[in-house]
Amino acid sequence: MILPWQTAQWQQLVSRQRQGKLAHAVLLSGAQGLGKRQFAEQFAESLLCHDKGENAAACGQCRACLLLKAGSHPDIKYIEPEEEGKAIKVDQVRALTDFTVLSAQFDQGYKVVLIGPAENMNRAAANSLLKTLEEPAENTILLLYTHAPQRLLATIKSRCQRLNFVAPTYTLSTEWLKQQSVANAEQWLEIADGAPIAALNLARNDDESIASRYESGLDTLEALQSRQRDPVSIAAEWQKKDSLRAVKWLTNWVMDIIRLAQGGSVASLSCPSQQSRLTSLANRLDVDGLHAYLAHLYEASRLLGTTQVNQQLLLEEILIRWSALPKNRL
Ligand SMILES: [Zn+2]
Repeated sequence: MILPWQTAQWQQLVSRQRQGKLAHAVLLSGAQGLGKRQFAEQFAESLLCHDKGENAAACGQCRACLLLKAGSHPDIKYIEPEEEGKAIKVDQVRALTDFTVLSAQFDQGYKVVLIGPAENMNRAAANSLLKTLEEPAENTILLLYTHAPQRLLATIKSRCQRLNFVAPTYTLSTEWLKQQSVANAEQWLEIADGAPIAALNLARNDDESIASRYESGLDTLEALQSRQRDPVSIAAEWQKKDSLRAVKWLTNWVMDIIRLAQGGSVASLSCPSQQSRLTSLANRLDVDGLHAYLAHLYEASRLLGTTQVNQQLLLEEILIRWSALPKNRL
């Protein structure tokens, strides 16, 4: 099943392939947790299947599909970090040459390579891939996926057909999550920053600690404004957990507070489950101050993603500025 928010991208690739216009390399990009890898895998299966159904979906029953299911199809290769979060090494990319040139094809059809997260390629790996892209092997399709295309070499990007993925609407996402039997779909979606596959994974792992951090997040921030909590201890807590995620939540809440302050409806919010707390903040806080704070949050998030920054200090500054946000004059 193609995910409901990926049908346009699917149609695009299928029609390119039918017209013989499929590039040797396709780069799938978009936020984390939208299902790009799953999409790449489904498209690879479609290319290798002998008996594609309507809409080019793989049949799941032919010889090729059975080999795919068993993980023993000779014409598909995965170039992914050996451990999550680790680099893709040059040896892994070099093995591509053997795969495309030396190994025999199963049925004279396509060979497909999945590469990702592509931004995890180290410099040597990226340079090695570039050589492959410059001299593409016949009938070999490289499917790269990334959520950080800005970290890829421009020369790699320019040799790929681009396919962008965007997060579906709140309604579509929560409906889909409910179809997957996710309870509290709204909250999991908000925790995952609007990315449904990420929300599904979090819900299936039923990570209580992340759910309770999200639920108590705005309480903590309100306690900070009323001086019942201090920025240093909250920053230390954030740093122990996933500080980028905490800042992302704060950013989404601030955007929602601005929307509400400017008369936006609940339907316009990205975190409607927090509506009552957000509304009371929207009544209290000055909207110009919030805009300036939002700009600060964007810059801080960018810095948090780099390695040379003192995270504790950066988080403290975010929290001190939050506690000092100008109030509305009544
Ligand atoms: Zn098949």
